[in-house]
Amino acid sequence: MQLTIQNLSKTYSNGVQALRDVSLNIPQGMFGLLGPNGAGKSTLMRTIATLQDADSGSITLDGIDVLQDKQAVRECLGYLPQDFGLYPRINAETMLNHIAQMKGIGNARERKDLVSFLLNRVNLYKDRKKALGTYSGGMRQRFGIAQALVGSPRLIIVDEPTAGLDPSERNRFYNLLSEIGENTIVILSTHIVEDVNTLCSNMAIICMGEVLMQGKPHDGLAEV
Ligand code: ADP
Ligand code: ADP
Repeated sequence: MQLTIQNLSKTYSNGVQALRDVSLNIPQGMFGLLGPNGAGKSTLMRTIATLQDADSGSITLDGIDVLQDKQAVRECLGYLPQDFGLYPRINAETMLNHIAQMKGIGNARERKDLVSFLLNRVNLYKDRKKALGTYSGGMRQRFGIAQALVGSPRLIIVDEPTAGLDPSERNRFYNLLSEIGENTIVILSTHIVEDVNTLCSNMAIICMGEVLMQGKPHDGLAEV
């Protein structure tokens, strides 16, 4: 698995140049996209997730032209946006079952097994009957990961997932993410250096729409 981004540029209609000639090679495993607020991280994540178009450049995922063949990308994508909303009155089990059903996964029995598996994985099984509106910030983020994992995606994008989590919630979230990286590409966008140092095998720093460096964590973090 390999995601290749070449010369990607995007200027919004208000004149803000959010991406300037961005080129990145993202291999399997956890990849950290580190940059301050306004750097262009969300724009890049939304573009990879096929939710937004670029002005120029290309993105390739294992031979798939991401900017053209959006459906093929969506079928293997798990996306956890920043500030995603949850239906406050629905419980976790019901919500995950709905998502699996919408994705056309299995029969009722298979979905029940999948939902239990995912809830165990994110450590929310005992809270599965609680309304999502009662969840803490850390529980919400872990539930978001469970949502993103429905359908066994090979590419997972998580946008600023640890913002607003306290240290113990953040650690639980780290443990969860580090288990997921195996046969997938996980792109973690964050402005928190510790997220990248703790979790990522490869990383890039982006600032004002430009890639400043890419390499291993610790290589260039003094530049941030
Ligand atoms: P696009 O260029 O992709 O079509 P839009 O022009 O539809 O984007 O964006 C609509 C408007 O939303 C922009 O003109 C801008 O004023 C506003 N906007 C939305 N999000 C932001 C943001 N994060 N920063 C600044 N402006 C924003
Ligand atoms: P980050 O995720 O790193 O905070 P963003 O991709 O959200 O960065 O934003 C990059 C730049 O583009 C910022 O200057 C932001 O205000 C601007 N921006 C983001 N979305 C829009 C939009 N829809 N319309 C206009 N400007 C936007």
